[in-house]
Amino acid sequence: MKKYVPTIGIECHVQLCTKTKLFSEVDNDARGKEPNSCVSPVDYALPGMLPRLNGEAIRLAIRAGRAMNCEINAHSRFDRKHYFYPDSPKGYQITQFYEPIIGAGYVELPSGTKVRIEHAHLEGDAGKLTHFDTYSLVDLNRVDTPLIEIVSCPDIHSAKDAHDYCKELWRLMCFAGVTYGDLYNGNMRFDINTSLAPEGSKKLGTRTEVKNLNSFRSVERAVEYEIKRQTKVLEAGEKVKQETRGWNDATGETTGQRSKEEAKDYRYMPEPDLPPINLSAEFIETESAKLPLMPTDYRKMFKGVIPNDTLEVLLDYPLLMEKLGQLEQGPSGDGSLAPVVTGLAPSSSVVTSGSPRKTLLLIANLFTSVLLAEEKSAEYLNNLPSTKDLAELAEMNGKKELSSTATKEVFLRLFDPQMKGRGAKNIAKELGLIQENDLGALEKIVDAVLAKPETAKAQADFKAGQEKVLGFLVGQVMKESHGKANPSSAQEILRKKLA
Ligand code: MN
Repeated sequence: MKKYVPTIGIECHVQLCTKTKLFSEVDNDARGKEPNSCVSPVDYALPGMLPRLNGEAIRLAIRAGRAMNCEINAHSRFDRKHYFYPDSPKGYQITQFYEPIIGAGYVELPSGTKVRIEHAHLEGDAGKLTHFDTYSLVDLNRVDTPLIEIVSCPDIHSAKDAHDYCKELWRLMCFAGVTYGDLYNGNMRFDINTSLAPEGSKKLGTRTEVKNLNSFRSVERAVEYEIKRQTKVLEAGEKVKQETRGWNDATGETTGQRSKEEAKDYRYMPEPDLPPINLSAEFIETESAKLPLMPTDYRKMFKGVIPNDTLEVLLDYPLLMEKLGQLEQGPSGDGSLAPVVTGLAPSSSVVTSGSPRKTLLLIANLFTSVLLAEEKSAEYLNNLPSTKDLAELAEMNGKKELSSTATKEVFLRLFDPQMKGRGAKNIAKELGLIQENDLGALEKIVDAVLAKPETAKAQADFKAGQEKVLGFLVGQVMKESHGKANPSSAQEILRKKLA
């Protein structure tokens, strides 16, 4: 049996988080607003209305392009793409067909695989139709929300890589701060083109397109389904039909919608109402410089410091990565944390005084196991403690002043608005969670416990070889110290004394 190699190319529409729309001055953020309440005469395409380009969309497009290692084209312009549908009052979409603003680049997946970007262009979104039994309603709030459409090269060869590419794109756009990244509300939508070719063949097979997927999981499932379906078609000696297919999330299947014969002629023509965009090298440079650290930078920074699986979870949260990045630099104005990994140097050059690696690892673990498990985590994410507080917490933990349970408790209190600014140490003191580490003092407590007649039997039992009574004795020390003794130190001293 012939083996087939799948080839996948992906187009992704990203809604940009500008304050106003691409060609008018109405609110671009229609979340929670009435249908058709964020619409200007320009969006309604009333006669005589003229579009005016939103400069902020240009700035965000530059940043988005740089996030994907793309060239930014100094010269670009808009075209009209004609189609007739109730979601578009103008009767055409304003897009960039011939000269897009973003040129070639690439996205590197967590696995190291690179997917080339063919180009990305700016365009306005369409409105939204909601279909009922006998009628449909149109909401024009989304008309001319700025979009960038990112077109990949056909460099993807598995459903998993298709999933990873979409997820990485989402991260890049969120880290770059160009979109709200709300997939559920369609802030990013993926169109997948899948084809199969016999192994070794230089020619690509006939492709199908599945449009408007809005989750990484549905991208992966739809690609898996298309690979299986097309394999069956080819093995039966038939030809794959070039067509657009719809995805049904409930059944996990794609179904034929529109074949190539019915493909539209969009009659592209230059948009006469908007001047071309000409960007100076200086402007491009200034905007590019605003790009913060990207997931790939953080992967290099924390290699060997934070385990991969923990890091990949955290990379879904730009704010957490930013905080870890700041911790890596050391808390500002505070000397408690020694300079950590310098720049992007390999982890072997880590300065170990103050155990910054331990600090980063501890905070990364608290972020994944405590913060993200919290019911209020979404709220907490926008109210992160200062690096100084986190470093102080890690320091107390490192010095065994706080048990792991106490560390978690103080960590959560750092998010409490009423505790804000009080400092990890003060909070720990107020809650009486600081462990007694003064070995001299602890020894005195142990002596007092051992002098008590009620511990005599346990002491004798331990000396007779009964290990488990040690737990009882440690418990007595904890009680005597009002919970402040460090249990492992107490155990150590008890062993020494009973030896
Ligand atoms: Mn498009």
